Amino acid sequence: MRLNYETIPRYVPHAVKGHALNQNESQYALPERLKTAIRELPLDLSHYPVDELTALKQSYAAYAGVSPQQLMVGSGSDELLAILCQAILDAEDVVAAPIPDFSMYGIYTHIARGNFVQPDADGLSIGSLLETIEAERPKLVLVSNPNNPTGKMWSLDELETIARRVPYLVVDEAYIDFTMEDSFKDCLAKHTNVIILRTLSKAFGLANLRIGFMIADERLIEKIDRFRSPFNVSGLSAAVATVVVNDSDYIDESINFHQTQRQKLETLLTPIGNVLPSRANFLYVETPDSEAWAARFLEKDVHVRAFADGIRVSAGTDEAYRLLQQTIEEVTSLEN
Ligand code: PMP
Repeated sequence: MRLNYETIPRYVPHAVKGHALNQNESQYALPERLKTAIRELPLDLSHYPVDELTALKQSYAAYAGVSPQQLMVGSGSDELLAILCQAILDAEDVVAAPIPDFSMYGIYTHIARGNFVQPDADGLSIGSLLETIEAERPKLVLVSNPNNPTGKMWSLDELETIARRVPYLVVDEAYIDFTMEDSFKDCLAKHTNVIILRTLSKAFGLANLRIGFMIADERLIEKIDRFRSPFNVSGLSAAVATVVVNDSDYIDESINFHQTQRQKLETLLTPIGNVLPSRANFLYVETPDSEAWAARFLEKDVHVRAFADGIRVSAGTDEAYRLLQQTIEEVTSLEN
């Protein structure tokens, strides 16, 4: 199969001015003690990164409660998605995901020459996903848990049901740190066809470093790792990440901050529409006026993400919330 380049959307990042509540990044400032420790790292730039990656794997393995042999490190979990699609898929293989889910899943499937399918019905129901699996026989199913963009959790039971019916399942746990008790990690021994993805871009507040992890059975990691380029993650990124991962107080502080700010945000957004229950660091509000709300917030330099039937807003600072509140009050006072 030849790739039709025109059908692949090109991801063009743009700088965000003001309050970025559209990308689910951390809004918790790195404490001074960590900034100092990072500044004091030795700058030894002439060699290819090896030791830094070994140290990072050890630190993250301890954090995640897995062995370093069960880990692969990538330049963001985005790179790991691309690598695993290339490792697992042959041309024309089918990949399935719930709807809605992370938009990049379709793109990486396409780049690996696969065919991407999603259930017709919206709403993240296990029934419609299993029907799609039955009808389309995908080789790989990709599921974010908590779900992006809604924040909904799939139960471990549901994920195990999917794992039993497909050759490979990816459980993308980009936001699991905010709700750690429901990680699929402890089910891995039973399901050696499951790959967990993690990232330092969200709760760890390190999106700029581009560090993600794959966690799976050692034999599966060994297979997929052959598709990685030799030095895919910079030693500087790995060294900085190791300092942060080793500071368990920081991650606790970040999680507490985002949970508190998510609760405040829920109250604040209620006048707009139905706020879906979320276990991540963002909320999804159902509203038919999604584009209009996003545009109004943007006038005050607050960026949120508009979808067809709602907006997704990341937990942010009180300063950003003041601007959201002002906008909502202006609109509701006009309507009354
Ligand atoms: N998976 C999900 C569900 C995400 O929301 C994101 C980031 N928006 C990623 C993966 C990619 O994260 P990163 O490449 O920064 O690790």
